[in-house]
Amino acid sequence: MKKSSPSSSNSWNSRNNVAPMEDVYCQCGSKVVLKTSWIKNNPGRRFWACPNYEKGEYYGYFEWLDDEVCSRAKHVIPGLLAKLNKREDEMTQMKIKESKLEADLVMASSRLEIMKQEVNHLKNEVNKLKKKNTKYRCVLNVFAFGLVFMLCLIVVILLLYMVQDLLCIE
Ligand SMILES: [Zn+2]
Repeated sequence: MKKSSPSSSNSWNSRNNVAPMEDVYCQCGSKVVLKTSWIKNNPGRRFWACPNYEKGEYYGYFEWLDDEVCSRAKHVIPGLLAKLNKREDEMTQMKIKESKLEADLVMASSRLEIMKQEVNHLKNEVNKLKKKNTKYRCVLNVFAFGLVFMLCLIVVILLLYMVQDLLCIE
């Protein structure tokens, strides 16, 4: 709600504690409404006006409600308004940053979830490979044992033949 424009929105009325002007209409047929001036010469000064006041070149009904503000107030109020507007701008910027950070957080969370799923998948793969490795090792052990056994058997047979030959020669 910037207050640099000459008049505020109608929402200001509810905070004024001023009874609405009954049965007062503008020449255009609209019921007059309470507005607040924010121009340099009349900051914060309320007035009754046509709801279409300042729309295009149109002005219609106009009547001040408050007396003219003193020169001190004329000097102070614009400064306060400028400060207020600056704070509102800062708040808006903060809100934009906050919503951006929230969006980033949501994105990071979803990425984290995807990475967790990938880690679980890889863990499963590693477990499968470990199982396969164990199986192959068993097969390899059996094969090696068989090979050693066969070699031993051949050596024993050869020795027996050699012993038999020696006995025959004698
Ligand atoms: Zn009017």
